[in-house]
Amino acid sequence: MTQRWVVTGARVFDGERVLAADSVVVEDDLIVAVGTSLPGAAGDQLIKAEGATLLPGLIDAHAHVGSRGALRRALRFGVTTVCDMFMDWRLAAELRAAETSGEASDVAALFSAGTLVTAPGGHGTRQLVGAIPTLGTAGEAERFVAERIAEGSEWIKVVYDGLKILGEHLPTLDFPTLSAVVKAAHRQSRKVVVHIGGLDGARDAVTAGADVLGHWVADAEPDADLVDEMARRGVVVIPTLSMLGSLLGQPRAELAEDPILHPYLSERDRAELVGRLGPPDNPIGSMQVARAGVGRLAGAGIPILAGTDAPFPGMAHGVSLHGELQALVEAGITPNRALAAATVLPARHLGLADRGRIAEGQRADLMLVRGDPTLDIAATRDILRLWKAGRPVERPIEAENLFRPPVVPSSGRLAEREGTVVTATCGVGWMPFTDQQVGARSTAELRAVDDPSAPEGWAIEISGYLDQSGTSAWAGLAFHPGDRLLAPADLSAWSGLGCWLRQDGEHPAAAMLVPASRSRANPSTVWLQPGRVWIAQQVVWGDFDGSDGHDVRAIAVLLVGPPGGAFRFHLASPQLIRSPAG
Ligand SMILES: [Zn+2]
Repeated sequence: MTQRWVVTGARVFDGERVLAADSVVVEDDLIVAVGTSLPGAAGDQLIKAEGATLLPGLIDAHAHVGSRGALRRALRFGVTTVCDMFMDWRLAAELRAAETSGEASDVAALFSAGTLVTAPGGHGTRQLVGAIPTLGTAGEAERFVAERIAEGSEWIKVVYDGLKILGEHLPTLDFPTLSAVVKAAHRQSRKVVVHIGGLDGARDAVTAGADVLGHWVADAEPDADLVDEMARRGVVVIPTLSMLGSLLGQPRAELAEDPILHPYLSERDRAELVGRLGPPDNPIGSMQVARAGVGRLAGAGIPILAGTDAPFPGMAHGVSLHGELQALVEAGITPNRALAAATVLPARHLGLADRGRIAEGQRADLMLVRGDPTLDIAATRDILRLWKAGRPVERPIEAENLFRPPVVPSSGRLAEREGTVVTATCGVGWMPFTDQQVGARSTAELRAVDDPSAPEGWAIEISGYLDQSGTSAWAGLAFHPGDRLLAPADLSAWSGLGCWLRQDGEHPAAAMLVPASRSRANPSTVWLQPGRVWIAQQVVWGDFDGSDGHDVRAIAVLLVGPPGGAFRFHLASPQLIRSPAG
């Protein structure tokens, strides 16, 4: 049976820019329509995405896949396609076959270079795969490349570097052999990706006719002649700034501590992220030089692709692509072009015609993130929903208890008053919380009022206006337990929230939990039962889509319209409760 679903109300980034459209319709594994306020047909699943951005699933243009697990880890962070740049070709064939047969919905799709081309004893012969065939002379290039293609290599990866940056002097191909490999690959309709370690190597690779440089360099900035030559020849660059940072002793270890990423990071991910390839005082180059070079290339219009080189020390599958996007922006590339570097550009330049863009007929590899990554590139980390070929991807939580619990009085009490001002016993405290969060116009204000009928003789009065123009409206107040606004806190030591409610009107009332990590775009709600007299209310974390309260940004109590119009309600004695079972 055909599965159809519609994302509506989203900002839609198609791989190059934000479209005027706000809706995308998916049928089975394909995007079938992109437009504005597309209603969907009867029976379509509707996904409301106000305040969120829909973008193509990410593509890592340079990684090394050692197991199926690598692709599973990549997918968890929104990387729906991995372009491998050297792995065991037999494993690649196995993983490709699983993808084709539809058995791979929990792992990223794979395209692979298979065995790389390197000199006897050169880079690649000692790492990642084990014993591999090597290329001795230019005369053997044609046959050597044909063998790789027979094994299934999507493109030809060549090493032209003796790893001087790591203080080594490994054998490497000479220039005539490099040129012969490029010619052989082109004769056999394959692109050539060249691993280079310094600016001289980059120059030689361009002269030899390389299509893609598999890294950029940190030893020198490119001169105008080289940049012009690259632009003229249409050379594409995968800078792997994350890898250069690791070589220079500056891995992006901060990824391991990012509270948005943290729940999805395994111990192994975190260990890999804080590793590094070279010493902090590596004299062989500088990140400043590397960034300036990448900025120049991008400024000349040379296509830049985002690649991580995971899982070398300092990089982990999936998560490091978010670090690489940040690194590209730090090199002066706009967020839009950084996003293109991980979507439309790798698809275009590595021959993945069916993906990398949001357009009719494209494969439905899609990622919905909170916020706007075209303004703040780090928003790509805040994944709300993810689909591979139209199928939803579950993102299992790997790590609990990253967020600190607030210091709550033993009573669990959350509110106090100073005159008419409502104060909190912990966290950022109590604030109005309305549908202005999603672009509507309801209002709310809070004050503390005497109320002899309330359990403690006072209450929080919430009054305001429910915007009648929207299809649904909500307004009320929220408790923010973190030490900054919307910073998550760990409330899992408590089982839920208790309070007393009464209201003058007859609006439906609901509690809303806003967690940091979730698979749904819309925060989940639980209905409450307020009356004209005080009624005690209780909600437990598990009522909210099975949350355990470990990552709560806010807990809100709201009145919900329609009908719209003015409202007033009172809330008293809010407190965190512990389950009777303990
Ligand atoms: Zn690599």
